[in-house]
Amino acid sequence: MPLTKSDKIWMDGELVDWDDATVHILTHTLHYGCGVFEGIRTYETASGPAVFRLTDHIVRLFDSAKIFLIDVPYSIDQLVEATKETVRVNGLASCYVRPLVYLGYGEMGLNPLPCPVNVSIAVWPWGSYLGDEGIRNGVRMKISSWQRHDVNAMPPAAKGTGMYINSSMAKVEAIKAGYDEAILLNPQGFVSECTGENIFVVRDGRIVTPPTSAGALEGITQSCIHTIAVDLGIDYEVGNILRSDLYTADEAFLSGTAAEVVPIRSVDDRELGEPGPVTRKVQETYFAAVKGEVDRYKDWNEHV
Ligand code: PMP
Repeated sequence: MPLTKSDKIWMDGELVDWDDATVHILTHTLHYGCGVFEGIRTYETASGPAVFRLTDHIVRLFDSAKIFLIDVPYSIDQLVEATKETVRVNGLASCYVRPLVYLGYGEMGLNPLPCPVNVSIAVWPWGSYLGDEGIRNGVRMKISSWQRHDVNAMPPAAKGTGMYINSSMAKVEAIKAGYDEAILLNPQGFVSECTGENIFVVRDGRIVTPPTSAGALEGITQSCIHTIAVDLGIDYEVGNILRSDLYTADEAFLSGTAAEVVPIRSVDDRELGEPGPVTRKVQETYFAAVKGEVDRYKDWNEHV
């Protein structure tokens, strides 16, 4: 589905018309994939649009940049404010938000250090990433023949633009085979995560999710699920998961800012059935939290 345009995109401090937000063909990141980004959502709440866990996302953006030795020419506060401004000027009650730090035009070659560092923030209306039907009834997953990066090949804590070639290949393979989404194993054979989401299994009422050392990104939605689970009195554990654990789980689900909280219906054609009670409870609480309906999580809603 083509993007729904909004009015303005923030580029290095200027609000530029959507159609004019272009870069030179010799933009360094376009060639070598050395850039970092975030994916954030703004939700409509009773007291106006609120960017969900905005500061945490911008902090992660800076951490990603630090890992790649990219010096972001703004402060965390400046990019938090710039994001709020971009959401405000576009007048959207809810939207997806994409900050990008990229190496610009001016130098070529594999040493990125002399390159100019540019920053953009785009927002646009974006519905459920894996579809409303997936959120309601669950998605069909395939374990990819592509492995997640080894932790010493690509740092899983960073959202680096070039790292997502791995995710794209897994996604295409899964879609072409008739599934909704892929699950990647790491080089040691443990479950890592999905192409843009963390993964969870539920067994005997306990939630288990793989550690960052298995190649998973430290998801912000994942950390919400941790908090929600603890508050609901559900056991939550970070630990390695085997492929067969997915096949025999009582329930499984995935989480990410774009995807939100989505039940898993089947893995490699092993049916897990209807979304289970733990998945439903966590999903319901998450959707209430993003809309500012849970007092205890109101700090997560950063109003613009
Ligand atoms: N893993 C990967 C590879 C991702 O790209 C994302 C999306 N940022 C996630 C997990 C989920 O992270 P979050 O909940 O912070 O969006």
